[in-house]
Amino acid sequence: MSPTAEDRRIRSLRAPKPAVDPYRAHGSLVEDERRPDGTVERALTVFLAGAECPFTCSFCDLWRWTTNGPTPAGALPAQLAAVLRSLDESPPRPGRIKLYNASNFFDPRAVPLVDRPRIAELVASFAGVTVESHASTVVGPATLEFARRLGGRLEVAVGLETVHPTAAARLNKRLELNAFARAAQHLIDNGIDLRVFVLLGPPHVPADESVEWTVRTVEHAVQCGAGVVSIIPVRGGNGEMERLAQLGAFTPPTLAQLEKALDRCLALSGTVVTADLWDVALLPGCAACRERRVARLRRLNESGIAEPPVGCIECGAS
Ligand code: SF4
Ligand SMILES: [Zn+2]
Repeated sequence: MSPTAEDRRIRSLRAPKPAVDPYRAHGSLVEDERRPDGTVERALTVFLAGAECPFTCSFCDLWRWTTNGPTPAGALPAQLAAVLRSLDESPPRPGRIKLYNASNFFDPRAVPLVDRPRIAELVASFAGVTVESHASTVVGPATLEFARRLGGRLEVAVGLETVHPTAAARLNKRLELNAFARAAQHLIDNGIDLRVFVLLGPPHVPADESVEWTVRTVEHAVQCGAGVVSIIPVRGGNGEMERLAQLGAFTPPTLAQLEKALDRCLALSGTVVTADLWDVALLPGCAACRERRVARLRRLNESGIAEPPVGCIECGAS
């Protein structure tokens, strides 16, 4: 896929990319996650280093964690083996592994075909394996082939981002809703689980409609069969988001909006909806009640059970 003029324009606003070693994972973390059947699963996320995603979405900053050229053959198995070795030193082993490569797992430039059997072997002992990939890369035999090779069950995480028609068309993601639905159906028809990423506060969605569009997008993901949906607040910092903010087309989402969106989505049964809290410290919010609000969000993520809102005399929230 050759870069378009829009891709080049967005990339030209970026700060220089840090050097990335394709033989060393960026890191890993272990968290407890609720699953659609009500169980809580220990999940290991491995942040793999590899080729940059060709899509150049306007809001994306994952390119910082990628290399310029294709991922060298053998690099991902080496990264993964090193992380798994370190994990063996602190049992018990989690039930799920998430292989997040800041790009598309089913793009052969990002995950060389020749490495996939070895990757499947390395993760054979996990009951669940999650990979991330753009919807347009998941329909086809390569996904099924990888799923067949696993010891456990495959889950593919796909960015739906927003169903707001203007915003979706201007994200530069090149994803039509019917292409998303086709990808979701392909996964479900083949016994592969669907996890969906939904944005809070994408550019071109008015700030006062932000929560509403996030909830609508989550509802759409649920209708398409998502077992897990993660609400991700959009962050600035990639150059393009700052340009859009200056034009009045992007307002950074707030902690209060994230709470409102999650509160509304907890009512959707059968699907686990969580708030992504990896960068929660960056969200604008009241200093006096922030900690209590974040703690409440963590509890909601873990339990899925609604709680009264946090009250605060400083910001007047109730
Ligand atoms: S498809 Fe995903 S990784 Fe690629 S640019 Fe868009 S958000 Fe970033
Ligand atoms: Zn407050």
